[in-house]
Amino acid sequence: MPFTGVPETITASDGTPVNAVRGLLDMIARLVTDYEPTQLVACWDDDWRPSWRVDLIPSYKAHRVTSAVADGVDVEEAPAGLIAQLPVIRDVLAALNISVIGAAHHEADDVIGSLASQANVPVDVVTGDRDLFQLIDDDRNVRVLYTARGMSGLEVLTDATLVNKYEVSPRQYVDYAVLRGDSSDGLPGVGGIGEKTAVKLLQEFGDLEGIISAADDPSSSLSPSVRAKISGSADYLAVAPDVVNVVQDLSLGTLNADIRTLDSEHLEEINRLATEWSLGGSVKRVLRALRSVQDQG
Ligand code: MN
Ligand code: MN
Repeated sequence: MPFTGVPETITASDGTPVNAVRGLLDMIARLVTDYEPTQLVACWDDDWRPSWRVDLIPSYKAHRVTSAVADGVDVEEAPAGLIAQLPVIRDVLAALNISVIGAAHHEADDVIGSLASQANVPVDVVTGDRDLFQLIDDDRNVRVLYTARGMSGLEVLTDATLVNKYEVSPRQYVDYAVLRGDSSDGLPGVGGIGEKTAVKLLQEFGDLEGIISAADDPSSSLSPSVRAKISGSADYLAVAPDVVNVVQDLSLGTLNADIRTLDSEHLEEINRLATEWSLGGSVKRVLRALRSVQDQG
């Protein structure tokens, strides 16, 4: 769930910040207008730091755990203003009949991975998280709409644009992230191997397995120093792909994803929420966008 660029000085009449709510609504309005989807779901971190990932790599997201732990569950460090808005976000999405989907013991990434790989329609994954570049697949019409530079700098990533950007294919992206590491997720990477070497190794040997075999093969072209780095990280390399790969086989049941289903009850509820939380303009824009796809449907 991206925390989009509306300043926190935007509040409801009682002073509760609603910047994230309005930012999300504006983002949905913009996406629906520009991409005209007939289906849309919001994926939720039911578990933002699953223990099965932490068991494999203890540093995974460790820097994002707050000192407060609720009921033995790690709490993610997030601005207090954002946390207060999560219930409003859920209410607003429900009023718009946009499903929120999560899975126990899994991150939103895993839900997105499962939806994208099981869908039989073209899928655009809207995210600011690079982990999901692994899902891009031109043959299956799966793209990433990358939001890291905001909605005005939205990047549409396909096989070709990913190769342009990183010099690795979507199929190589997990191995690339494993080798290079990712400080935003507490993924250490292989000591001494940065982006450039990771790209070079993947171009030469294809994938992580090929690189590990080359490190074990005295006749391979690997330099002694890179060989030592790969061999020295054998334990990490054995588990890291399972942490970085998103799960693609969750059974998520029947989805209510059609966004052309707003009835008068929904409208009544969304208008009530718009008044309660001072969401006026943002609700108007999202309703206009949803109506335009409804009319086409
Ligand atoms: Mn990430
Ligand atoms: Mn992620």
